[in-house]
Amino acid sequence: MRVRRQFLVGSLLVASLRLAASDPAHAPVSAQAVDSGEAFRFLVEGNARFMEGKPSGAGRDEARRLDVAKNGQHPFATVLSCSDSRVPVELLFDQGIGDVFVVRVAGNVSDTDEIGTIEYGVGHLHTPLLVVMGHTSCGAVKAVMEGAEVHGSIPALVDNVAPAVRLARAKYEGSPRLFQEAVRMNVWMSIEDVFKRSEEVRSLVKAGKLQVVGALYVLETGAVIWMGEHPEKTRLMTPPGARPAAPGGGARPATKPAVAATKPAPGGH
Ligand SMILES: [Zn+2]
Repeated sequence: MRVRRQFLVGSLLVASLRLAASDPAHAPVSAQAVDSGEAFRFLVEGNARFMEGKPSGAGRDEARRLDVAKNGQHPFATVLSCSDSRVPVELLFDQGIGDVFVVRVAGNVSDTDEIGTIEYGVGHLHTPLLVVMGHTSCGAVKAVMEGAEVHGSIPALVDNVAPAVRLARAKYEGSPRLFQEAVRMNVWMSIEDVFKRSEEVRSLVKAGKLQVVGALYVLETGAVIWMGEHPEKTRLMTPPGARPAAPGGGARPATKPAVAATKPAPGGH
């Protein structure tokens, strides 16, 4: 970056800003055309930097702020995550301003508003990757598991979590893994809700323009455990009421899976 050094020596703020906006190293990764595999790699690498305590902090400066304000947003991933303050999505993926289109709601549920927001991210902003991310020690999942008394508008929210908890109980009742498995089931359930209720998501996946993966964030380590695509994706790709696609038909994944499922961290809560 010889040119950049010359400007820095000159200490000309305006010149530096101009350079930052035109220097590829300063350009948002999101401004480049990426596929789901590259988007996934950005998140994996960013999370590794975060875990190591060596975030790059790229894209959080004035140059990026001005760039996206002027040129619009071009995020490379849509992420549905929990509102829990311990799950700061941009920080844990070490991403900058304009990189990630984030939906945060208690229990990372997919109801009407969340699905509408997701459709904006994947359909209007064209992110090639949708990540639905739960986390260990999720209070929303725990509240449902424990049958906690909730008031106001919260019952309508946690209603979305209840089916996942029922499924987890059917398989893991009495097991120390029950809570963690309920969190994982809740991720799958959110993905299922998106597929069932969003024709746009189904058609983008079918066209190979979108990949949808689950993830689990571990509060203690900062690690994102990748769960891969929904195990029943083929079934979910079939619109409600329609007959399942013939084997090898349109329900087949159109993109090469970019994400391998990994086992949950031992000891997760
Ligand atoms: Zn939570």
